[in-house]
Amino acid sequence: MKEQYASSLTQYVRRPTREVYIGEVALGGNNPIRVQSMTTVDTMDTLGSVEQTIRMVEAGCEYVRITAPSVKEAENLRNIKAELRRRGYQVPLIADIHFTPNAAELAARIVEKVRINPGNYADKKKFETIEYTDVTYQAELDRIRERFIPLIKICKEYGTAMRIGTNHGSLSDRILSRYGDTPLGMVESALEFLRICEDLNYYDIVLSMKASNTQVMVQAYRMLAQKLAEEGLQPYPFHLGVTEAGEGEDGRIKSAVGIGTLLEDGIGDTVRVSLTEAPEFEAPVAKMLIHRYATRPGHKEIKPICNLPINPYQYHRRSTTEIGNIGGHNVPRVIADISKLTALQYADLKCVGHLYSMLLDKFSMNDLGADYIYTGSHPVSFMLPNGLKEIVDYAAWLTAGQRTEHYPVLTAAEYTAGTPHHPEVNFVSNNIESLTADNLALLKADSTAVIILFTDNEHAMAELRKGIFRLMNNGILNPVIINRQYPDMLAEQLQLYASTDVGGLLLDGLGDGVVLSTEKMLERTKAEWLAVIDGLNKLSFGILQAARTRMSKTEYISCPSCGRTLFDLQETTAMIRKRTDHLKGIKIGIMGCIVNGPGEMADANYGYVGVGKGKIALYRGQNIIKKAVPEERAVDELIELIREDGNWLEPLVLEQELDNF
Ligand code: SF4
Repeated sequence: MKEQYASSLTQYVRRPTREVYIGEVALGGNNPIRVQSMTTVDTMDTLGSVEQTIRMVEAGCEYVRITAPSVKEAENLRNIKAELRRRGYQVPLIADIHFTPNAAELAARIVEKVRINPGNYADKKKFETIEYTDVTYQAELDRIRERFIPLIKICKEYGTAMRIGTNHGSLSDRILSRYGDTPLGMVESALEFLRICEDLNYYDIVLSMKASNTQVMVQAYRMLAQKLAEEGLQPYPFHLGVTEAGEGEDGRIKSAVGIGTLLEDGIGDTVRVSLTEAPEFEAPVAKMLIHRYATRPGHKEIKPICNLPINPYQYHRRSTTEIGNIGGHNVPRVIADISKLTALQYADLKCVGHLYSMLLDKFSMNDLGADYIYTGSHPVSFMLPNGLKEIVDYAAWLTAGQRTEHYPVLTAAEYTAGTPHHPEVNFVSNNIESLTADNLALLKADSTAVIILFTDNEHAMAELRKGIFRLMNNGILNPVIINRQYPDMLAEQLQLYASTDVGGLLLDGLGDGVVLSTEKMLERTKAEWLAVIDGLNKLSFGILQAARTRMSKTEYISCPSCGRTLFDLQETTAMIRKRTDHLKGIKIGIMGCIVNGPGEMADANYGYVGVGKGKIALYRGQNIIKKAVPEERAVDELIELIREDGNWLEPLVLEQELDNF
C-alpha cells in the first residue's frame, strides 16, 4: 500500500510515537491513552478553578487545561497550581493560549504544558485573502519564527511541554490563502510551527487537528501522521478531539464518530471529549471510548489489505448501483431490527418514528422514521405506513405471501442455493468469510442483491472495512448495509461503540445503510424492548448525521465553554434547541465568545455568539448580521433571522398531538 497513515489497517496496533512527559505523567510511547478536559470557570476565580479541577480529576482526568486569555490569567495559574498541590492534587496543568504570546511565555514558566493555536499565535484574523509569492510567504514564516522562538526557549528551560493545536475553524489568513480551508491547510499550519521547534531541538510536543466536521478532522489527523513520516519529522503523539461536538446524545455520538475512527487505527495518545456540559461529564465518556482498546490487540486475525481502494484523505462515497431505494445517490438507509417483538400493534411503530393516530386512522412519520423494519420470522400482520418497508427471514418470506415491499433476507448459503428470490430486492447476509470468489461472482451479476455485512471480530470496523474493500477491489457495486450486533451492555457504551464502528466506515464513504441490534432482548418487557429499539433507531440516525451522510435534524455546533464564555452555554443551548430542533438540516453555532467563536463555527448556517456581558452577536454563515443584541431578545431575533431567509418552519404539532393522544 502506497499511502499508509497507520501501522496497520487490519491488525490493531498503536501508532508508535515519542514519549512526552507532561509533568510526571507521560503520554505517547507505551503509555496508556490519556484522558483530559478543560475547566469552564473564569481563570481569575482561583477557588472555583481549583474545585472544578478536583471534580474533573475525580472523574478521571489525567491532565487539566485552563484558559489563559491574557497575562493576568496566566499569572493566576500560579495560585491555582499552588492550591491544588496544597490539597494534594498533582494533576499536570495545561495553559490554553490564543492570540497572546506574552501569556504563553509566562504560563510556560508556571504549568506543565502550554497549548498554542498556530492559527492565531502570531496572526490576527482579518478574514482577508492575500496573494503570497514564495518570498512574501517566507517573510511571514520568518516573522512567526521570531515571535515563537522565545516560547520554545522558555519551554526548554523549564521542561514544559507544548501542544501545537490546530483548529479547523481558526486557520490563519495566510494558511487559508495558500492551502484553503482543507485538511492539508490544517496540517501545514501545525508543521510551520513544528519545524521551528525541531530547528531548536525542542521535541516535547503533542499535536492536534481538531474540527467540528468529523470528516475533515479524521482526514487531517491521518494526513498529519503521513506527513510527519514523509518529512522525516519525529513521530509526535496526538491529542484527539472533535470541537464543538455539542451536548447530550448528539455530542457523544459525534465525538465517538471522530475520535473512535482514529482510535480504531491505533491513532491517538490522549483524548478530550468536548461537550457543552459540565467538564466532569467529559472524562467518563473519554474513558469509555478508550477502554475498548485495552483488550483489542488480541483480536482475531484479519488478513492485510494489498490494495487500498479509497483515498483516506478525501471523502468519496463508494459508487454503488441503486437497488430499490438503497445505494446509488440515495441517502444511507436506516433499518430497525424489531425481530424479537411479536404481535406488533400500529402504535408500536412509534419506536421507529412512524406515528399512528387512532383519531385520524393514519400514520405520520417524524424526521427519524426508519426506512425499513426487520421483523425476522414474525412478519407484520397489517399494512405498513407509506414509506416503511419490511425485511423478513427467507423462510418467513416464502410462506408469508411474498407481498410487495416485503423483502427476504437470505443467508449466504440460502443465496447460493439459487432458490426463488424477490424479483427486485433481496438482502444477502454475509461476513468476510462468506465473501468467497463464487459468492462474489453471484453478487456481481445480481442487480437485486443488497449485502448486509456483519462481523463477530472484536476489531469490527477494520474487518467490515476490509470486507467492503474486497468488494471494491472485485468491481462489485452492490450496496452494503452495515450490521452491528452488540451483546447486552450499557446504553451509553453501545452508543459510543456503534458510533465508532459504523461512523468509521461512513467517514470513508463506505456503507449504504445501517442496522443495529442488541442481544438478550427476550428478557425485557415489551415496554423496555420498545425503548431499546427507539434508542437504536435514534442512534442510527445520529451516527449518519454525525458522519455527515444524512441530515435528519437540526445540528448544533456549540462550544464546550471555558473561562472566556460570556453566557450560560448549557442553558442557552437548551433554549435554542427547544425552539429550533424541528429545522431539519440547519446548522446553528452557539459560541461563548467572539474571540474564537466565529472561526470555530465555520460550518454553521447561523451563529449565536457572546460578544460582551449580556450581549449577543448573530451571524448568517460567517457574516455578522446583528452586533449586540440584548441576551433576553437574542433567541427571538435569531429565529427572525432564520425566518427572513425563508428557512423557518412552524413546529409540527401532529407529533405532539399524537404524544398526548
Ligand atoms: S468559543 Fe467557547 S470554548 Fe472557545 S474560547 Fe470562546 S468561550 Fe471558550
